[in-house]
Amino acid sequence: MNEYVLSDTNISNLSVFDLLKHTAHAGFMEQENIQDIYPLTIELNTGIFTRDTSAAGFPEVTVSQFNDSVYASCSCNNPSGKLCVHQAEVIYCILEQNSYRIFFDNKLRHAKLLAAARNTAWRRNPTLIPTFICDITADRSI
Ligand SMILES: [Zn+2]
Repeated sequence: MNEYVLSDTNISNLSVFDLLKHTAHAGFMEQENIQDIYPLTIELNTGIFTRDTSAAGFPEVTVSQFNDSVYASCSCNNPSGKLCVHQAEVIYCILEQNSYRIFFDNKLRHAKLLAAARNTAWRRNPTLIPTFICDITADRSI
């Protein structure tokens, strides 16, 4: 299984224009190609994805990030030395779908958790808000 590395970047910073530089398949940006993509497994900073398709099966694509790099592998064994169309579609899907992106994007995850904590604290006990925000901002409670 070939692995492609996007060095010195992460899902928080990666743009569609960056992604275009790493693949020969610009068609990955068509929305109908990503709407049926779903994770077989997903956890913080890693997931295995596939897609429901009526055509011949879609391979399994693994996307992980650590040490300021994004790693993508695909079982199609594309020999091009760039991201295959499956990898490009899956990474694009992660960028576009917040429900998947939140597993890879620290900034998005932080903002969502902070908003949820603020709402909960506000409703239950407004006097706790400064403590909540302080703890979350310092990553002590997450
Ligand atoms: Zn592939």
